[in-house]
Amino acid sequence: MLILMNLNAPRQDVEDIKNKIKSHNCQAHEIPGEINLAIGITGPSELLYEDDFRLMKSVVDVVRVSKKYKLVSRQMKNNDTIINTKYGKIGGKELTIIAGPCSVENRDQIFRIAEILKNAGVKFLRGGAYKPRSSPYAFRGLKEEGLKLLDEVKKEFELGIVTEVLSPDTIHLVEEVADIIQIGARNMQNFILLDEVGKTKTPILLKRGLSATVEDLLLSAEYIMAQGNFDVILCERGIRTFETATRNTLDLNAVPVIKKNTHLPILVDPSHGIGIRDKVQPMALAGVAAGADGLIIEVHHDPDNALSDGSQSLTPEQFQKLYDKLKSLAPIVDKELL
Ligand code: PEP
Ligand code: MN
Repeated sequence: MLILMNLNAPRQDVEDIKNKIKSHNCQAHEIPGEINLAIGITGPSELLYEDDFRLMKSVVDVVRVSKKYKLVSRQMKNNDTIINTKYGKIGGKELTIIAGPCSVENRDQIFRIAEILKNAGVKFLRGGAYKPRSSPYAFRGLKEEGLKLLDEVKKEFELGIVTEVLSPDTIHLVEEVADIIQIGARNMQNFILLDEVGKTKTPILLKRGLSATVEDLLLSAEYIMAQGNFDVILCERGIRTFETATRNTLDLNAVPVIKKNTHLPILVDPSHGIGIRDKVQPMALAGVAAGADGLIIEVHHDPDNALSDGSQSLTPEQFQKLYDKLKSLAPIVDKELL
């Protein structure tokens, strides 16, 4: 349920509403909008009566949210969420480009790639320190050492850092370095992890699971928001289908569907989506054309020798060509690549 109040409602009226909600063992979430102040209700709200709230001071309307996900839905908040970070906005007009290697491998590697990307105009550097791998024998990341390198490179080049967290016990370490914490596809339904990142104040990049529906993805975002972290960025990164010609099937249908159902920003990851280096560019452009708020792309200065996902990592030259094309494409889809 959603209570819409006058934008300039006296504080006491807002508190009265929130106290009434809490007295029924539900949670109240304040969501400031352009026209109204909304109070979103989560929890067992079937026991609340709409009319009880309608009669309270400063209440404009009471709306039942029919979707399974509540805080995530456009019914709860109509205007697009724009996430502000020190390094740029995600959502709204801005087209966000996050680029970098799959994994942080060593100091020289991450510094070289960061310098190239900074010079290209990129604001966010991606790179995993903790890597989820299908094989336990594959490179699983430099862990704390990788975080230290990310911290150094961030200070040197003033780039926002996007890096993955795999388990609740390392959130406090990742949080110190990350401007955006990534929850990878394999952990999209790790509900304990979602609860815990929901308690942080760092924006979360939530990637769609390998066999997750759009609704599953939105319900996972709801876990994070229900804990109080409203800065959630969704990511379409391809799903498993019967098709074997590509690593995954990038479900670009999801982009306009997600845009309709939620106010949260959505990025596309064409690298994992198709998994083949020379086919990343068309899918990146297609993602932006489909309405994505930005892209997360793997780039490596020596992809053939990368320790993970080299075959889908762009060379710096390929990335520069794509970036130039994105600059031309952005205004056509009403976006700005600053
Ligand atoms: C990654 O970003 O390198 C990664 C592991 O992504 P995903 O979780 O989408 O597979
Ligand atoms: Mn990768």
